[in-house]
Amino acid sequence: MSDSNLATSVDVLVVGAGNAALCSAIAAAEQGASVLVLERAPESARGGNSAYTGGAFRVAYDGVEDIQKLVPDLSEDELAKSDFGAYPASQYFDELIEMSGMRADGDLVEVLVNRSFETLQWMRSHGVRFIPIHGRQSFVVDGKNKFWGGLTVEVSGGGAGLVQSLFTKAEKMGIRIAYDHKMTELIVENGKVCGVVASHQGQMLQLRAGAVILAAGGYHANAQWRASYLGKNWDLAKVRGSRYNTGLAIQAALDKGARAAGHWTACHSVFYDANAPEFGQPNLLNQQKNYFNLGVVVNTLGERFVDEGENFRNYTYSRMGAAMLQQPNARGWQIFDAVGAKLLPDEYRVRHATRYQADTLEALVAQFDGVDAPRLLQTLKDFNQAVDRSVPFNPAVLDGRSTKGLAINKSNWALPLKQGPFVAYEVSCGITCTYAGLAITPKGEVLDEEGFPMPGLYAAGEMVGGLYFTKYPGGAGLTSGSVFGRIAGQEAARLAAV
Ligand SMILES: Cc1cc2nc3c(=O)[nH]c(=O)nc-3n(C[C@H](O)[C@H](O)[C@H](O)COP(=O)(O)OP(=O)(O)OC[C@H]3O[C@@H](n4cnc5c(N)ncnc54)[C@H](O)[C@@H]3O)c2cc1C
Repeated sequence: MSDSNLATSVDVLVVGAGNAALCSAIAAAEQGASVLVLERAPESARGGNSAYTGGAFRVAYDGVEDIQKLVPDLSEDELAKSDFGAYPASQYFDELIEMSGMRADGDLVEVLVNRSFETLQWMRSHGVRFIPIHGRQSFVVDGKNKFWGGLTVEVSGGGAGLVQSLFTKAEKMGIRIAYDHKMTELIVENGKVCGVVASHQGQMLQLRAGAVILAAGGYHANAQWRASYLGKNWDLAKVRGSRYNTGLAIQAALDKGARAAGHWTACHSVFYDANAPEFGQPNLLNQQKNYFNLGVVVNTLGERFVDEGENFRNYTYSRMGAAMLQQPNARGWQIFDAVGAKLLPDEYRVRHATRYQADTLEALVAQFDGVDAPRLLQTLKDFNQAVDRSVPFNPAVLDGRSTKGLAINKSNWALPLKQGPFVAYEVSCGITCTYAGLAITPKGEVLDEEGFPMPGLYAAGEMVGGLYFTKYPGGAGLTSGSVFGRIAGQEAARLAAV
């Protein structure tokens, strides 16, 4: 779209075109508002980090009947073979608060949790198709797929399917999306935010609106901010998703007096293929290696450095990239024997994985470049001897099958590495997203430094701070973007109509 086609004034202007932005744009248009979406990426790279996601949504539900409301086309056979359990709102709330070290904003968490289910139903009504996450979030126990870790549904087609459904709906509703438009500044007049300055093909444009919603993601793709806020070596991390989330919209709001919130020195980062490209590429997805709980992880010194079985991986994976980055050369290997390897999901089966295989541990380790091989073989021997084999292995529950007497024990799912063929995956650190940004109210209003809502300004998604501190429960990011995006859209439309 060329700049001359853009309306000079709309009711609601949304910055960004990922999940949070599109949910807010659709919600605002539903209220009758005219909506313009500005996206800095070209159309060919649209969808933000959301397009790279697995499309997993953490939602509160009370049992199989609720899952059927989100996935009405579940067959009788699927129902008979699945144990969905429940993930009550109280558990979701407690987990988010506990994982934040009691720091998360309780009012925001309450809204996120209590409105998660209705928001997914609303998304369904707008064409987003949810399905159970059989492959990654359930193990077969007694003939049934038993779901674990509070993460039960994903969008059909993953993140690409999610954003495709939302773009289709937005376009059908007549929402205009201007690609290659980078918002650089907020326009504030008489104490109210009434538009933005954006650059497009070297030209600066002034675009006015009754209300502005910022949903432009965090700062994970800004190497300088990563080094400044996250610390040493974070400029070296590989970016799992969009290269466009550089914190520009956060900075624009801070420049006008918005209050910074959340944990600026922490982020979500995972074990990631050591040879993955510097930025995410849609044709090279699944570089993350998140099922370390089924094996052991070692560094170039040949030593283990994390408790691989501390909890379900949904609750620990987001700290693993940081743990990896602290190791020499920020490189290591995940090692599995045939029993653990059989349970690994699709992300381990992609052709671009840096994978090694051998019939013996000695032959496997001999292929690792730059490792202290004798030390590593001793580490694996010590690990095998320390496994308490009296407790049965069960990957669908916290089975308590642990090692005893090691400097770092494995608390659950301790399988000795004894049955070949053995496989290993070489990993480094991949950053997913950041945890800090702007302070908002439960209505999505951006707060100023004095703690008052900034008239005309709303925010949603990854650029909101105050929900995650160090730990992150998988699937909460997309749900938060949808819940607060929808609320921000409704509120902004109401304001613009006054
Ligand atoms: C590989 C990967 C897998 C993930 N899997 C999951 C998952 O399964 N479940 C989950 O909950 N979370 C997942 N996440 C986390 C995920 O990133 C967030 O939960 C969610 O996608 C964030 O959505 P958002 O709308 O806030 O931001 P985004 O989707 O990143 O959208 C922000 C948009 O703003 C645009 N933008 C930035 N600056 C400007 C500007 N100045 N002007 C105009 N436009 C701008 C960007 O180009 C981008 O399109 C994953 C992340 C990655 C990288």
